[in-house]
Amino acid sequence: MMIAVDRLQDRYDVIVVGSGAAGGQTAYTLTMEGAKVLMLEAGRNYVPETETPMFHTPDKAPLRGASTPDKEFGFYDSTVDGGWQIPGEPYSSASSDTEQQFWWWRARMLGGRTNHWGRISLRNGPYDFKPRTRDGLGFDWPLTYADLAPYYDKVEMLIGVYGDNHGLENTPDSPAGCLLPPPKPRVGELLIRKHAKDLGVPVIAAHRAVLTEKLDHKRLPPLLHPGNPRAQKILAEHMRNRAACFWATDCGRGCSIRATYQSTTVHLPPALATGNLDVLVNAMVREVELDKSGKATGVVFIDKTTGKEQRATARIVVLAASACETVRILLNSKSAQFPQGLANSSGKVGRYLMDTVGASVSGQIPRLENLPPHNEDGAGGIHVYSPWWLYQQQHAGKLDFARGYHIEMGSGRHMPGAGSISTLGSLSGGYGQQFKRDMRRYYGSIVGMSGRGEMIPNEHSYCEIDPQGKDRWGIPTLRFHWQWSEHETRQAAHMQKTFSDIIEAMGGRVLGKVETDGRKAIAPGGYIIHEVGGTLMGADPKSSVVNQWGQTWDVKNLFVTDGAPFPSNADKNPTLTIMALAWRATDYMLAAMARREL
Ligand SMILES: Cc1cc2nc3c(=O)[nH]c(=O)nc-3n(C[C@H](O)[C@H](O)[C@H](O)COP(=O)(O)OP(=O)(O)OC[C@H]3O[C@@H](n4cnc5c(N)ncnc54)[C@H](O)[C@@H]3O)c2cc1C
Ligand code: SF4
Repeated sequence: MMIAVDRLQDRYDVIVVGSGAAGGQTAYTLTMEGAKVLMLEAGRNYVPETETPMFHTPDKAPLRGASTPDKEFGFYDSTVDGGWQIPGEPYSSASSDTEQQFWWWRARMLGGRTNHWGRISLRNGPYDFKPRTRDGLGFDWPLTYADLAPYYDKVEMLIGVYGDNHGLENTPDSPAGCLLPPPKPRVGELLIRKHAKDLGVPVIAAHRAVLTEKLDHKRLPPLLHPGNPRAQKILAEHMRNRAACFWATDCGRGCSIRATYQSTTVHLPPALATGNLDVLVNAMVREVELDKSGKATGVVFIDKTTGKEQRATARIVVLAASACETVRILLNSKSAQFPQGLANSSGKVGRYLMDTVGASVSGQIPRLENLPPHNEDGAGGIHVYSPWWLYQQQHAGKLDFARGYHIEMGSGRHMPGAGSISTLGSLSGGYGQQFKRDMRRYYGSIVGMSGRGEMIPNEHSYCEIDPQGKDRWGIPTLRFHWQWSEHETRQAAHMQKTFSDIIEAMGGRVLGKVETDGRKAIAPGGYIIHEVGGTLMGADPKSSVVNQWGQTWDVKNLFVTDGAPFPSNADKNPTLTIMALAWRATDYMLAAMARREL
């Protein structure tokens, strides 16, 4: 249940710090299998069923819903108390050079960023777990695709992911029964597919965590919780309470009918229904405490409602606060045993921070002009995408960068927002009746393509404690160092060329400049909000922070289940992999607790 600080139990089996994708998945699996869990969340409570403005039109909002510094993704975006900057919670960059600065997006609310993420849910492929073996760069994971595949299956079945299998290289198929049917491509997506194919670029069904039909509440629960009839019953009931998407609203506002995955609508309700989960919001964890033997005893946190320091204790502590926040907690947990920060005997905590490479091009397509009015809101996000298609050429050394990217494409007639008219207006140049005619002509004729590419971890991209910085509770803050390598900037330049080629093949014209200099085309570090790394997972305690179970080498009852352990950041968006790893880690914890090893 949701508790107040004075209702904390003396000791829990597990403390989970954070309630987003990682914390949600960790708490879900543990509580469904009987462990007593305390979840500590720095943000406020958030109830999507009552707080989601799904049907408000932009004209009802200040500035017609346009973005503002405190609502970066627009007035109706579901993020509360979050953004690139959070009052009273600063961070800094070591360099004043804009190319070396890191943008850090945080959401301070129950469910974290899962309330408004893009829901794109791609599996890493077999190559993505062994990148160093393939091209000699970065790090291999101490596990294989085959090790994680059963957990991808489970997460897809639990949260509900639409998509299809196409048998393409390093783009894993899901076993029958895992995926929901994909929505049909929109007209712009069909046109992209037709012309991209001529250029050798495949366009296939996207995978997104949106229910295109209701989940099968009879078939799935026994597969997800074999031998556990209580968990099956709770999950079946919960699945019945999720409706299918009705194709009409912006998922970034959240989904009150639970058709899309949010930790608050998918992981937490069944976990709370077990009676095994206590959730304390407004609890800002500062550090992990140890006993004399070097085992974690619990955490110290600030109760934000009073500003007072509090403690909670447990057999196991799991950090799932998002990659950089987890690093911050570890580095702030200094003791005689760990003067450089907890679990940091390798000196690697904070190192090898990664984001996703991003670059975009949009174009106007005359063949999409003057389409009859129709609704293309669809599933609230992409219906198709292009997986990386040049693995063989890259492996043969025919490209001047080492890793691939996928393409996310947008098109169609959605509900117009504050920015819609500015783009269309630049095409018109007319007034009055002419302007109206032009709006009808051009509306829906613009397509956009965004590349999402792999970054190779490097020594120059990391975070550390800022010797000067403190947040409003006196907790030391992070300072970031950032540098793209030429692999990433050349990849960004390749994206620009590919996207403009596709737009031209469609008979369209590129809007704006096609940037041939990758350093100018690439989005700043952190800007794609796929930050991972900082507690490197590896097979050797001397050179890594956690093992393949997310268990820190130095403190055996301390785990990390967010994106911090990622040894590489494949082009595939990270959240599905975070959840699959978290489920695998909790299975390990449950087995170790049952054996009384933890
Ligand atoms: C606009 C947007 C679009 C995105 N689209 C996609 C996408 O399409 N696909 C994809 O895979 N990923 C996407 N992402 C990224 C995705 O949201 C993250 O990968 C995912 O949410 C990470 O889960 P997490 O649990 O590690 O962190 P979060 O979801 O950020 O949750 C962490 C939680 O921990 C809490 N916390 C932090 N510090 C503390 C502390 N000290 N004490 C207590 N609690 C703390 C935070 O308040 C937060 O609620 C997107 C993100 C954004 C913002
Ligand atoms: S588009 Fe579908 S999944 Fe997205 S918010 Fe609307 S109903 Fe929910």
